[in-house]
Amino acid sequence: MGVPPDAAARAASLREQLERASREYYVLDRPSLSDRDYDLLFRELQSLEQAHPALRTPDSPTQRVGAEPSSALAKHTHLVPMLSLGNAFNEAELAAWEERATRLVGAELQHDGYVTELKIDGAAVSLTYEDGVLSIGTTRGNGTIGEAVTTNLRTIKDIPLRLAGHAPPVIEIRGEVYMSFSGFERMNEARVKAGEPVFANPRNAAAGALRQLDPAITAARPLRFYGYSVALPGNANPPFATQWALLEQLAAWGIPVAPNRARAASLEEVHAWARDIEHRVRAELDFAIDGAVVKVNSLRLQRELGVVGRDPRWAIARKFAPDIAETRLLAIEVNVGRTGSVNPYAMLEPVEIGGAMVKLATLHNFELIADKDLRVGDWVQVKRAGEVIPQVIGPIPERRDAVNPPLPYVPPDRCPSCDTPLQSGEDRGMLYCPNFECPSRQLEGLVHFASRGAMDIRGLSYSRIQQLIEAGLVTDAASLYDLKAKQLVELDRFADKSAEGLVQAIEDSKQQPLSRLLFGLGIEYVGEIAAKVLARHFGTMQALAEASEEDILAVRGVGETIGRSVAAWFRDAAARRLIRKLEHRGLTLAEPMSAQGSALKGKTVVITGTLPTLSREQAQELVESHGGRVTSGVSKKTDFVVVGEEAGSKLEKAKQLGVETIDEAELLRRVQVARVQVAG
Ligand code: NAD
Repeated sequence: MGVPPDAAARAASLREQLERASREYYVLDRPSLSDRDYDLLFRELQSLEQAHPALRTPDSPTQRVGAEPSSALAKHTHLVPMLSLGNAFNEAELAAWEERATRLVGAELQHDGYVTELKIDGAAVSLTYEDGVLSIGTTRGNGTIGEAVTTNLRTIKDIPLRLAGHAPPVIEIRGEVYMSFSGFERMNEARVKAGEPVFANPRNAAAGALRQLDPAITAARPLRFYGYSVALPGNANPPFATQWALLEQLAAWGIPVAPNRARAASLEEVHAWARDIEHRVRAELDFAIDGAVVKVNSLRLQRELGVVGRDPRWAIARKFAPDIAETRLLAIEVNVGRTGSVNPYAMLEPVEIGGAMVKLATLHNFELIADKDLRVGDWVQVKRAGEVIPQVIGPIPERRDAVNPPLPYVPPDRCPSCDTPLQSGEDRGMLYCPNFECPSRQLEGLVHFASRGAMDIRGLSYSRIQQLIEAGLVTDAASLYDLKAKQLVELDRFADKSAEGLVQAIEDSKQQPLSRLLFGLGIEYVGEIAAKVLARHFGTMQALAEASEEDILAVRGVGETIGRSVAAWFRDAAARRLIRKLEHRGLTLAEPMSAQGSALKGKTVVITGTLPTLSREQAQELVESHGGRVTSGVSKKTDFVVVGEEAGSKLEKAKQLGVETIDEAELLRRVQVARVQVAG
């Protein structure tokens, strides 16, 4: 029987959509579809292929795992393929799965019962241990070939570099690298402060961090790990009989295993456990799960059941419904950040999602609004799942008034704060207010200028700055230095003492070194570290201002994005005016060159293995210039060991003695020297 042309056309369209989504999800770490939408399209393709097997091409997304490995990273072939999982959206589908498995192995299926585990929403990795020592770490890649990211995985503290106790000569331990919600939020807050773009959700942030080419970037991201399976060469039997024993062995080797795992004697117990996870436990976890995994406990039965296509028959993902609600989109508002970026967000009719009232949701950028055809007045679906910030999934067009539909949204063409025509930026779908003196930019900019990591002006809070701007006393950073106590006491909420205190705090900030001032100026992409690198390199504001773009790009540790942004900033006439004003007011426009710290004063440090960027001499010099002492042997007196690639006996000794081990990124962090991180 031939395939009807409309089915073939639909299958081709689904394949194309799924492929694009997979690339965005796995390779770019920037999905534009929700997981639910992806799963539904995937299902549709699966059932079309089932009805018309001729449509099932070998390269169909239903036959493949993940995405092709990136060519920028070395490849690694897994001992045994890393699989995906079939999924069940409800209890009936889970029951159908059990029925299918029972048909294959009979009633014995339930003999050892099931193991139920949390389905961690992260990125799958495989860790090869040879003689108990971590030798290779890879991503899942396309399931057969992964990307070697050993150095990156070594920076994750949850992952033991050596297994505790006895282990087979070669074993691959599989598990999930993830980011906790709290770690994710802290990281995003720091990125906001540094003027760097924030990550959309912990999963993408974790997957992206894993595939960095620079391990220092991975090390700076708060990654965690949970293990859940193993593979042996030749697909040999592992030395345990059940999945439960496997998890216990992982824990005994020092591999973290996710909490809330359980054994269930029957599917009824599985259902009860999954309900409890979905409705109670999930909200209490500090990491994202996108469901639960139900596994046949007996490893012998697991083998008998085997694999079909890309999914094992012995395990299934019980996916949870995302926390979605429907509500009205009341308005699309924008705010203007200190770098001038115009950020749209949705004002919603307040709605409860997963126990929290939601009235604001992010819209990311204007292109997304256009792609989704979101219109003010629409009914919309809003999601609060793994994502920390609620997101608008899209409009519900069926609920649009057919006679009087809302009008398509038109992005602003002028800045809502200063009326300057907006410009489109380098990032797709973003708009910028180019006016250096825009009040909205100035408010956000002054808040940043006064913040702790920058000029650290105590008492100059957000509301104070707003008050000073409204009173016409302050326009830019330089005008802060003209404030007089007698002007302040005229304002509300200022007493003599607080007015004098604030003027003094502003005066004191003139002593801050160039690096802090540079950071405080809020130049796009210039975080605290980049500011330090630039200040140390150029020494004075004048030297930096006179440097060409090439000079700036040549500074070690300054990437292209930062370099170009700095050069463009100093070319702006308004920026130059501001620098002149700050100079007249007596700010320190230089970096004290003796600013080497005493962060490691009295510390005894051992360095072992090959560090990712520093030579042994550079690392030693670094430690010594910050007051530390480098010795060759590890003893109880050693404060910490800096560990690089191929570290050997010194690392072992440190572990035996319980001496702290850190990596290069952590050393740099401790001495506050710079490795510049470009958002990635
Ligand atoms: P999957 O995520 O549904 O299930 C398999 C994976 O689950 C394993 O590879 C493993 O990484 C993970 N896992 C977590 N905890 C586990 C545990 N305790 N035991 C075993 N495995 C565990 O399948 P997949 O192939 O990784 O990806 C497909 C899914 O990814 C889709 O269902 C969709 O949700 C999402 N996706 C979304 C988009 C998008 O555009 N939004 C695109 C592609 C894929």
